[in-house]
Amino acid sequence: MRIDLHCHSTASDGTDSPAELVATAARAGLDAVAITDHDTTAGWAEAEAALPPGLTLVRGAELTCSAADGRGGRCTVHLLAYLFDPDAEEVVAEHARTRADRRTRLHAMAGKMAADGYPVDADTLLAGLPENATAGRPHLAQALVRAGVVGSVTEAFASLLHGRTGYFVPSRRTPVVQAIEMIKAAGGVTVLAHGFAHRRGPVVTPAVIADLAAAGLDGVEVDHPDHDDDARAELRALAARLDLLSTGSSDYHGTNKTTPIAAETTHPDVLAAIADRATGAGLVHGR
Ligand code: AMP
Ligand code: FE
Ligand code: FE
Ligand code: ZN
Repeated sequence: MRIDLHCHSTASDGTDSPAELVATAARAGLDAVAITDHDTTAGWAEAEAALPPGLTLVRGAELTCSAADGRGGRCTVHLLAYLFDPDAEEVVAEHARTRADRRTRLHAMAGKMAADGYPVDADTLLAGLPENATAGRPHLAQALVRAGVVGSVTEAFASLLHGRTGYFVPSRRTPVVQAIEMIKAAGGVTVLAHGFAHRRGPVVTPAVIADLAAAGLDGVEVDHPDHDDDARAELRALAARLDLLSTGSSDYHGTNKTTPIAAETTHPDVLAAIADRATGAGLVHGR
């Protein structure tokens, strides 16, 4: 059994449509794949309808959150949420608020770049986004590639879009404890995404993860492309100590990132535990 529990589609900042995503997963030999677009469940129905025989779909999302960093400040964290009720009122409303703010924020980032002479137009960028898609920096990166400013999305992040440039504008984030409680109430299961990905920016301390476990967090993503060996070892030990589930996933974004689908995988027992705990939605088996 090969299981990838973190993948994006065109419902957020991936480049495969939800139907293409499940086809890609089957072609890569996966037995189960999760669709976890940022702050939306908009891709679920299409992925379900296109599910190839033999492939299991784990319906999920990746929530944009903030957390105490354990050093007296706060930092951004991403929370993977699985098998929650997509119609739960609080989830729907929170997703909508975050998505709306992501558009305003991307507009602001593009505006700052245009003011500095970069050939991007904020209004054109927003008008060109798929209607229900969650806007993210990769969309701005693609506009910069199209305008010939940079050669690739990766290059755009390295030079202009990372969190320490003057063009970066933070987007709305849900306090992570509130997000954990909201997903629990909707019958879902939560996993802290790429918790020790130092390259991305400031990360939480182990003590914060212990607090999140006490607040109801179910697991941590241990095997992730942005985790080095030390980060994986530390998270794996922490998960064992706190009795958290350990997952592995590629964080596949199609051609917006260089990581292929199934680059990292999750043990079948862990998916069974997730499905067992969830009451908001079930696994979908392609047949
Ligand atoms: P945002 O959520 O709009 O702040 O953008 C964060 C997203 O940008 C992540 O979910 C990734 O999809 C993408 N991203 C972050 N760093 C990189 C990178 N170095 N190369 C390509 N994509 C990246
Ligand atoms: Fe993303
Ligand atoms: Fe993430
Ligand atoms: Zn992701």
